[in-house]
Amino acid sequence: MEILRGALIIVGADGAIKTIHAQNSPGGMSAAARHTAAGTLVTLREGQYLLPGLIDLHVHAPQWPQLGKALDQPLELWLRTFTFPLEARYADLNFAATVYESLVDGLLANGTTTALYYATIHLPATQKLADICLRKSQRALIGRVAMDDPAQCPAYYRDASAGGAEADTREFIAYVQSMPGNADALVRPVITPRFIPSCSDELLRRLGALARETGCHVQTHCSESDWEHGYVLDRCGVTDTAALENFGLLSRRTILAHCNFIDDADIARILKAGAGIAHCPLSNVYFSDAVFPLRRMLQRGVHVGLGTDIAGGASPSILENARQAVIASRTLESGVDPAQSRDQRRRESSRIDALTAFWLATAGGGVALDLPIGVFREGYQFDAIVVDAGSANSNLHLDPADAPEEVLQKIIYSAGRANIRDVWVAGRLVHTLASPPSG
Ligand SMILES: [Zn+2]
Repeated sequence: MEILRGALIIVGADGAIKTIHAQNSPGGMSAAARHTAAGTLVTLREGQYLLPGLIDLHVHAPQWPQLGKALDQPLELWLRTFTFPLEARYADLNFAATVYESLVDGLLANGTTTALYYATIHLPATQKLADICLRKSQRALIGRVAMDDPAQCPAYYRDASAGGAEADTREFIAYVQSMPGNADALVRPVITPRFIPSCSDELLRRLGALARETGCHVQTHCSESDWEHGYVLDRCGVTDTAALENFGLLSRRTILAHCNFIDDADIARILKAGAGIAHCPLSNVYFSDAVFPLRRMLQRGVHVGLGTDIAGGASPSILENARQAVIASRTLESGVDPAQSRDQRRRESSRIDALTAFWLATAGGGVALDLPIGVFREGYQFDAIVVDAGSANSNLHLDPADAPEEVLQKIIYSAGRANIRDVWVAGRLVHTLASPPSG
């Protein structure tokens, strides 16, 4: 971590960071004078901190109304009883527009400057989500969900054929790439087989070929739970990761959600492809049956970032998930069964610290997506949040004696939406905290 004290960041019209001037440098002082005269200088107050914007690598946009609901159910029941009926409602474009407006506002208010979204199988509603993200200037990668297997998908909510799913995916890619105002690719299309259990082999092959043809990002779920991991082993005879590789779906621009049950050979496949993992520590508690060995993945050099997994995780906050990533790693290290001896219970060297969690929430997400975001560096996009320790209704309490590293720890462990004052994407102010009502 590098702390920029009193620095001046110059942002170009393209939203990228042009220059970072150190405090009191001659170039910085003259640039500050120029921008003050032009009325384009933004200055932070005491107690305000500029951080890279938060990156969410796994969001199911249509599940926003389901947030916090039915988390006591096992995954396959949760999907069939609650999630699929809800997702089917996005055939109604007005319903979709209402929910997606609220979702994007909610994520921006939580400091999420980039989100990797699953939409639904409905092309118009998925296009609507792209429209809304572009209009609100949230950096977004969006997938029209493909799922055609009658054995696992209900008749009322599935693609009629593999060919139809591919055609709609192609149409969505073309739509996003030609949206007026999207020349900088603020919004990008993502090839999105829901997960292997939902898709026929034919569909997976077609989408793999499409990924090679277009170079688009790919997202899917991988070895999330005992059920999913076992299902793919039974059906494909190989692990989830190996099957995805065979279908052509494992690339530098693939994000695999969860990966809780991957083995050493799977890690080698993911490393070879340069794919990334969306670690969803909150959702994993409810649905994964295990704790993701995060530290081991980082030590192996796998690209990892964080995902809320809305609505498998009940919080839209990446800060909340950063905290949970620390907690999960500490739980893995300590073990959970007090009846076992300390040595049997523990898994040594599993913990991560707050700084690593912050890295995952920002820079790690940017690396996983293969985009120049998540770090304040010349040439990178200026996606940023202003964290304000002095906000009303704040749980963040700073002390004048806190070192900068301690301030960051406090932000990771106790800051929330109430502290996120301003949100910037590609150099544009896209959200400002509403003032508390007076009187
Ligand atoms: Zn998911």
